[in-house]
Amino acid sequence: MLNRPPIIGVPANVLVDRTGAFPGTLRSYVNQDYLDALSLAGTAPVVLPITGPGEVDVQLSLLDGLLLTGGADVCPLCYGEQPARGLGDVYQDMDLHQLALARGAREAGLPVLGICRGLQVLNVAFGGTLHQDLNGMAGPFQQHAQLGYRHAVSHEVDLEPGSRLDRIFGCASIGVNSFHHQAVKDLAAGFKVSARARDGVVEGIEAEDGTFVLGVQWHPEGMVHQHPEMLRLFQALAEICTQQDRRTS
Ligand code: MN
Repeated sequence: MLNRPPIIGVPANVLVDRTGAFPGTLRSYVNQDYLDALSLAGTAPVVLPITGPGEVDVQLSLLDGLLLTGGADVCPLCYGEQPARGLGDVYQDMDLHQLALARGAREAGLPVLGICRGLQVLNVAFGGTLHQDLNGMAGPFQQHAQLGYRHAVSHEVDLEPGSRLDRIFGCASIGVNSFHHQAVKDLAAGFKVSARARDGVVEGIEAEDGTFVLGVQWHPEGMVHQHPEMLRLFQALAEICTQQDRRTS
C-alpha cells in the first residue's frame, strides 16, 4: 500500500500560439479539469512534457499511474492509414510520446486511464485503428460532438455486464457528455469493448487480462461537479495505484 497520494502522469498536449506575442511558439499544456479531477480523487497529478522516446522510461519511473487526456486527432499514419477528409489537427511528436508512454506503462504494469483521445491512443498503441471522421460516414450515427455545456449529458451508453466499467458505475447504462468526431474502428488485440452508444459507437474499452488499462470516449473530468458519479473513474484509478505500490512489489 502506498502511504502517500499516488503520482499520476498526465502527458502534455501541443498548443500552437497563434495570436500572442510569439506567434508559432509551441507549448506543452494540459487542461486544468483533468488535474482538478485527479486531485479531487486524492492523487497527485504531474504534467509530462512532450519529449523524445529516450526520456519516456525515465518519466514512467517517476509514476504510479498514467492518465491520457483528450486532445487533437491521432495521426492516421500511426495506424497505417492515409489522412481522410475530415481529419483534424495532428501533432505526430505528441502522438509518438503518448503511444510510447501507453506501451511502456502497460509493460511496467502501471494503471492507465484514457479519456477521449486517450482511449484512442490506447487502441492505436496496441494495434487498433480509428474512424477518422464520424461526420463523414454513411449510417445512422447520432451526434457525438455536442454543443453547449461541457458537463451536460448528451447521450446514453450501455455498459458491458461484468466489465470494469460496470463494476465502477454499478448500473446498466449511464448518461455521458460527448465531444468526439473519431471513434474506435478495429479494436486492439487484448482489449474488449466495455461501453457502447446506442448507435454502436465504442464508448469504453479495457484490457482483457484484468489489468487496469481502461479508456472512455466521453469527458468525465468535465462532469465531476454536476454528476459526481463521474469522479468514480478517477477514484478507481487512485485506488488501484494505492493498492499496487509497484515500488514494493
Ligand atoms: Mn459519444
